[in-house]
Amino acid sequence: MSSNLYPGLLVVISGPSGVGKTTICHALVDRLGAQLSVSATTRPAGSEECNGEDYLFLSAQQFKQHLDNADFLEHAQVFGHYYGTLAKPVIEALQAGKIVILEIDVNGAKQIRQRFDRAKMFFILPPAPASLSDRLNTRRRDAKTVIAERLAKADGEVRFARESGCYDYTIVNDNLEDAINQIVTIISKRCFANQEKEKPQND
Ligand code: ADP
Ligand code: 5GP
Repeated sequence: MSSNLYPGLLVVISGPSGVGKTTICHALVDRLGAQLSVSATTRPAGSEECNGEDYLFLSAQQFKQHLDNADFLEHAQVFGHYYGTLAKPVIEALQAGKIVILEIDVNGAKQIRQRFDRAKMFFILPPAPASLSDRLNTRRRDAKTVIAERLAKADGEVRFARESGCYDYTIVNDNLEDAINQIVTIISKRCFANQEKEKPQND
């Protein structure tokens, strides 16, 4: 499938746990008026998380039902739980010309790359491996064992992302504002280029 079919722009944000993906995605919503896709997941909700806003928290059976109905644009198993992007709201927003952001893992990103050749795909890196541990502990969402499991997988995820060859840009999230500005600049240039193409020619 080509994303040329839609006037909107699909943006993918991936990276190891704790690198700042969610923080960056919310800033992109504010700065670009983008629509953040709400993923479905079978992982339990954190105490601060809201069903329907942060995720659609589903039972394994409900998730399977969506799989059987082919409702997902992509899906993957991450840290022992299922996560997936429901196609309908994403396609509708792209048809309406919106910038749509997917915060998804590398397996999901590979599926999106195959279906949307014009998607803009970003992989976010920490300034140093130790910053992931600091940020996950500061966030206070996950238990120590969950944090340890996520940290153990970070190196492999970065390697897998590099090998996948599906990302267009690698952004180091050291200073948060700098990282957000880099992504905003890249996306804005792409949107501007599209508008130029669509301008009526007078001569
Ligand atoms: P992810 O979605 O990648 O797991 P989050 O966006 O939840 O990560 O960020 C994890 C923690 O790191 C949050 O407490 C967030 O406020 C913090 N954080 C994000 N970016 C930075 C940064 N550049 N410097 C320091 N802390 C950051
Ligand atoms: P978390 O549990 O920290 O919210 O997310 C864990 C991992 O799942 C992150 O790498 C996140 O990007 C990924 N993820 C979240 N939603 C989706 C989704 O819809 N599809 C895929 N493939 N990965 C997702």
